[in-house]
Amino acid sequence: MAINVSKIATEGLKPFNKYGCRLLAKDSQHISVLNATKIIPKNCTYVDFVKVETEFGKSTTSIVTFKDNSREVLERLITKAVDGRDVESIIKTYTTDNDVVFITSKFIKDGKAILDREEALFRHDINGKKGLTRMKLDMKPLPDGSRAENQVYEELISQARTKYLETTAVRTKDGTLYNKTINASNPSILENCENDPYLYIRNYTKKDFAQSASYYAAKKQGVDAGKDFSDVKLDGCMGLYQNRTKRVLVDSTQGNKIDMVNTLNHEYRHKLQFDLISRIQRSLLNIFRKPEYKVILNSKEKALAKKYWFAEMIYPSTNSTGRRYKNNLLEVDARAAGDIAKSEYRFWSERLAKTFGIPQKMVHNVTIEDQIRELTDRVARMRRLHIIELPINYTEKL
Ligand SMILES: [Zn+2]
Repeated sequence: MAINVSKIATEGLKPFNKYGCRLLAKDSQHISVLNATKIIPKNCTYVDFVKVETEFGKSTTSIVTFKDNSREVLERLITKAVDGRDVESIIKTYTTDNDVVFITSKFIKDGKAILDREEALFRHDINGKKGLTRMKLDMKPLPDGSRAENQVYEELISQARTKYLETTAVRTKDGTLYNKTINASNPSILENCENDPYLYIRNYTKKDFAQSASYYAAKKQGVDAGKDFSDVKLDGCMGLYQNRTKRVLVDSTQGNKIDMVNTLNHEYRHKLQFDLISRIQRSLLNIFRKPEYKVILNSKEKALAKKYWFAEMIYPSTNSTGRRYKNNLLEVDARAAGDIAKSEYRFWSERLAKTFGIPQKMVHNVTIEDQIRELTDRVARMRRLHIIELPINYTEKL
């Protein structure tokens, strides 16, 4: 077993510094010593423990840092305790993807999650100066199940905020947003970004993104949104429209956000098609019924409805990959709707990326997204670690 222990602290306590803090213990362990593989993040080789007395001895703070082979930080668990009882914890998870550092933080107070933070940081040249761009989304759970959000895009040059865009919103459980506000350091940033329909939801996980984007897609395709959307596991496709239940089904575990925008608009277009078909059918039946049941279709809708209805009649019932399926008007039309929405999403993404010097791959959240998914498992493991308090007890033994 490889052991690499370097004890640094604890011969006699030092006095408190001006912030009321002093070091109690510090240690670094090679991972094989701990022999607790299940609770340790993947690729973790070293664990650092630091215990600090804070508020002039009223509280203690333990910091457990998980590092990889090259001593890069993977995760950090910060726990504040008063009278030996944990009152506040922050679980921070770090991932690096080339120049981008991605951090998720979970703030826990008295055993309750009070805030989730997701942020991405990257260095780049801002007008010839070395700077940092930060994207951050804070999500605070509210008692009624909705959540308050605060989103920030900012450029920092030597700690100073040189430009920013900030949004706030409340997101309900069903994915709608209200109380939206937007603020920016200058009017041109506001002008560039305020009409981006995806601005408030860009930093969501794919699951939340799909749910909230369904409202935009439905609106764009001219159908009612809300209760007709489900995010479910699908086999062989990313989305479908189920005419029997009038529902749009998508699978947010597949593809990236551009694919999701495409899929949502494609499927809501199908919903519009079948809405129009059923309306023209009812309007024909209504000739023999009471006038109050009359379905009103304007001439444009009527023309479209007829085309869709005819296409539906010749829609192949099986073989959804065949040429007849692909060339059917319903599919051609839905694909076009998806493509238009996709290029619109791309347009706004690129505009935001340009405004803040964000790398393309990040604004489309392709790589980061996959990382979040992997991280979510690790955060769950960290919580278990926190419960059994292994590193903290360990520090006390020093
Ligand atoms: Zn289709």
